[in-house]
Amino acid sequence: MSSHIYDAIVIGAGGMGSASAYHIAKSGADVLVLEQFQRGHTFGSSHGETRIIRFFYDKPFYTKLMKTAYEEWRNLESESNKELLFISGSISIGKKGNQYTKAVSESLDEARVNYEWWNLKDLSKRFPQFQVPHDYDILWQKDTGFLYASECVLTHLQLAERNGAIVRENTSVKRIDWQTDVPTIHTEKDNFLGRKVIVTAGAWTSSLLSTLNLPLTVTKQQVCYYKPTNTEMFLPNNYPVFTEITDDGEFIYGISYFGKNGAKVARHGMGQAYPPDECNRQPDADYIEHIDTYVKERIPGLGKSTHAEVCLYTETPDEDFIIDTHPECEDILIAAGFSGHGFKFCSLVGRIMGDLAMRSKTDFDISPFSISRKTHEV
Ligand SMILES: Cc1cc2nc3c(=O)[nH]c(=O)nc-3n(C[C@H](O)[C@H](O)[C@H](O)COP(=O)(O)OP(=O)(O)OC[C@H]3O[C@@H](n4cnc5c(N)ncnc54)[C@H](O)[C@@H]3O)c2cc1C
Repeated sequence: MSSHIYDAIVIGAGGMGSASAYHIAKSGADVLVLEQFQRGHTFGSSHGETRIIRFFYDKPFYTKLMKTAYEEWRNLESESNKELLFISGSISIGKKGNQYTKAVSESLDEARVNYEWWNLKDLSKRFPQFQVPHDYDILWQKDTGFLYASECVLTHLQLAERNGAIVRENTSVKRIDWQTDVPTIHTEKDNFLGRKVIVTAGAWTSSLLSTLNLPLTVTKQQVCYYKPTNTEMFLPNNYPVFTEITDDGEFIYGISYFGKNGAKVARHGMGQAYPPDECNRQPDADYIEHIDTYVKERIPGLGKSTHAEVCLYTETPDEDFIIDTHPECEDILIAAGFSGHGFKFCSLVGRIMGDLAMRSKTDFDISPFSISRKTHEV
């Protein structure tokens, strides 16, 4: 084992790990990133062309935190000199008076974020692509858009490296030993010492921290892509991000035609649970049929899906994140359980992990994300 002691070792180079490495390295610390696969791989949760970024949430603490998350993404754009997000605006739809849209509007009010209630006429004037029943609420929020997901991860890693971080790919961490003076990270070949250890291992967090019995469930998620005949109508300038709470309580979302895949439509959550290494990566025909049926009714111009992709969620029971120190070792920091809605927060989580690693505290309210919160009690 090398006797070198890193200021921080980040385990996992997905969305959260890459952002954490960037923020910690930028503050002048000596950072090592260990990733079991290659950067940009497709086995975790952060790959793909797009992820929605939005203020609207039914829990106000997320909406409030998003203000800094947006700022940090903009900072990343200017530091890297790259465009990393596109703001298209969004519509959130659901049956009149549904609880979700109501809670969303209250969160936006509380955080003083502007939005508008539209009627069907407003919608068909702006976005005739949608066929929405007359008894629906339509909430328009202009700041919503999408992040260029894989590009964001690569950019955080590049800038971390520019600030001195070392990224070791194809290096799987087998064990963290914190009974020693300085935590020791064991990989197949080498062991490493780090004053702080940041666990951003996504779907593999439970196996890495098995003694903690974290309430994390890994589920298979799928997204469908569409290449409509009238492409123009579905380009980012002409078509918004949308979300819908259906009458059956499903949360469906979509993003405009972007990149090589086309326009995206998917159902949030409700995936089958799997250990991450055993998840079958083939899209399911019945899922694709389900989304195609929805699209035929709501956005008929999209036509039929051309293909689908598989990705993993790591879910907590209340769908709130885990951002906390390890209960038995304050030098180990954990960011996990992003429950299918974490990507937009990577920029902020990176900053928070930087605060916790370098100052042992953060000014952001992370109390909703504690490991010991009530909703985790069975
Ligand atoms: C289909 C889909 C759609 C989504 N849409 C949105 C959206 O629109 N908006 C949004 O905000 N969020 C969205 N999300 C959620 C978001 O993408 C995730 O919350 C986020 O990417 C999680 O990042 P992560 O870093 O925790 O996990 P990951 O990106 O999976 O990173 C974990 C990394 O750790 C590595 N690792 C694990 N164990 C080890 C080990 N032992 N040793 C070394 N390396 C290890 C893994 O290989 C991996 O690279 C979506 C997710 C999916 C799957």
